[in-house]
Amino acid sequence: MYLKSLELHGFKSFPNRTVLSFERGATVIVGPNGSGKSNISDAVRWVLGEQSVKSLRGSSMSDVIFNGSEDRKAQNVAEVTLVFDNQDRFMHLDYNEVEITRRIYRQNNEAEYLINKEPCRLKDIVDLIMDT
Ligand code: ATP
Repeated sequence: MYLKSLELHGFKSFPNRTVLSFERGATVIVGPNGSGKSNISDAVRWVLGEQSVKSLRGSSMSDVIFNGSEDRKAQNVAEVTLVFDNQDRFMHLDYNEVEITRRIYRQNNEAEYLINKEPCRLKDIVDLIMDT
């Protein structure tokens, strides 16, 4: 199992679709204070099912949705996807690549979870990553 990429769209300080590709070797994320480095690790926790708003440094789950800036209006949806190479079938799914996605809508604070673009339950994601 190999973590290939992380995609953020509308999550915290990432209004644009942003893809981080993790090549072999080390990937380093650098930037000045407040530039969003910790938001990236928040995104990883969040997509893997984090339910504690406090751990995500917010007061409501919808705080993870981009809430606007001086020159850009707030967004209504946040989405994060983690992509794993699963050629070794470390995850018990018969796919070479496994994508885990979480989405939240501001309108109703509702969450959606997806595995390989198919809607699933949070429990399915927790079960999938439990031994990883
Ligand atoms: P440091 O090096 O000081 O720890 P950092 O690079 O880890 O900083 P973060 O804490 O990840 O930075 O990012 C903080 C920034 O993210 C702040 O500017 C904050 O306004 C912004 N931010 C957090 N949530 C949202 C949101 N929902 N919408 C827009 N911006 C957000």
